[in-house]
Amino acid sequence: MAEIHLHNTLTGKTEPFVPQKPGEVRMYTCGPTVYDYAHIGNYRTFVFQDILRRFLKLRGFRLNHVMNLTDVDDRIIANAAAAGKNIRDYSEKFVQAFFDDCKTLSIEAPEHWIRATDHIPDMVQLIQRLQEKTFTYPSEGSIYYRITKFPAYGKLSKIDLTGIQAGARVDNDRYEKESARDFALWKAPKPGEHFWETAIGPGRPGWHIECSAMAMKYLGETLDIHTGGIDLAFPHHENEIAQSEAATGKPFVHYWLHAEHLLVEGEKMSKSLGNFFTLRDLFAKGYKPSTLRLCLASVPYRRQQNFTFNGLDQATSAIERLRNFADRLRQGKFPAGEQEGMAARIAKAAEEFDAGLSDDLNTARISPWTKANFARAMSLRRSNSSPHSTKSSPSSKITMLQNCRPSDLAAPRQA
Ligand SMILES: [Zn+2]
Repeated sequence: MAEIHLHNTLTGKTEPFVPQKPGEVRMYTCGPTVYDYAHIGNYRTFVFQDILRRFLKLRGFRLNHVMNLTDVDDRIIANAAAAGKNIRDYSEKFVQAFFDDCKTLSIEAPEHWIRATDHIPDMVQLIQRLQEKTFTYPSEGSIYYRITKFPAYGKLSKIDLTGIQAGARVDNDRYEKESARDFALWKAPKPGEHFWETAIGPGRPGWHIECSAMAMKYLGETLDIHTGGIDLAFPHHENEIAQSEAATGKPFVHYWLHAEHLLVEGEKMSKSLGNFFTLRDLFAKGYKPSTLRLCLASVPYRRQQNFTFNGLDQATSAIERLRNFADRLRQGKFPAGEQEGMAARIAKAAEEFDAGLSDDLNTARISPWTKANFARAMSLRRSNSSPHSTKSSPSSKITMLQNCRPSDLAAPRQA
């Protein structure tokens, strides 16, 4: 088996993957902010992290994977207040929709699904630790993180902090690099908004402190892997590092993995352009979950992907071909036997499958293999009218196919 290499945003390099504890991986994924239905760009990231976790499991690692549901953030607070609802009631519909979508797309459940609203005391405690170490200051009932106190600020996103005005603050959970400022750990309540009474005063957590507190609670102070979409690298992940490392004095994460953006028909997805799609939109057009999964997985996660309906149609045909082939195998037309040529091809295919995924989850290295293997197997079948004799059983070949079936792209091989 090939050595696993992953691209680490922190170092900017593709590095051999070595977890802290042999055989075990501690991984955190930023889940959706449940203020609306997640879109296909979000699901590209979740399919990528699913391939990663399935591949690590296939390689024998025991996984401790945490995924959060951000059910407190500016947008949820505002939408819930506008709807006159409690934030938990407001977000429930989108939480359930997300679970349904993950199931539909064959995205495995992580070891821990957790919600921000269940962890407010953990966030308060972390803020108190930062207060003790004087990384914070209060202003008008809110508590801010002083970024100049953390010299490594910017190491993930490579942001240039020269010219940043000490004491300038930003209150929004989401902002651009140009707006890098001291950010809110705890926000004072505004009239009509949901808040908690806590030891650090009434209010609600900022988005960034949620992930730091929850990740360290379940995974310890240093994680092996943290994943998310590239748009989260700044400010969210940069701020997670600043909060966590200031509190513990230890590295927060060894490997940061980020999935690139998804364009639709060459343009940034937006509701105003009419190219904004949720899973529901695509299923209503007749596309199948397996097709969508293959399509989203077909471009390696670190490359920008241009999602097109033409590509989705091609994925539909690819899946039909694979399923037809699997059906033929299942119908018993390939009895077990000895055939060196086929056995060698299967061994080579398995090796290439592993090498492709070991190469920073290079799913593009697998797609050509899928096609080639399929073509070879079909031509072999045509050239042999007598019962085939192959070294491997029909079921093992089907299993190999399942490994490249979109819904099971990196599913563990069965014995
Ligand atoms: Zn997060």
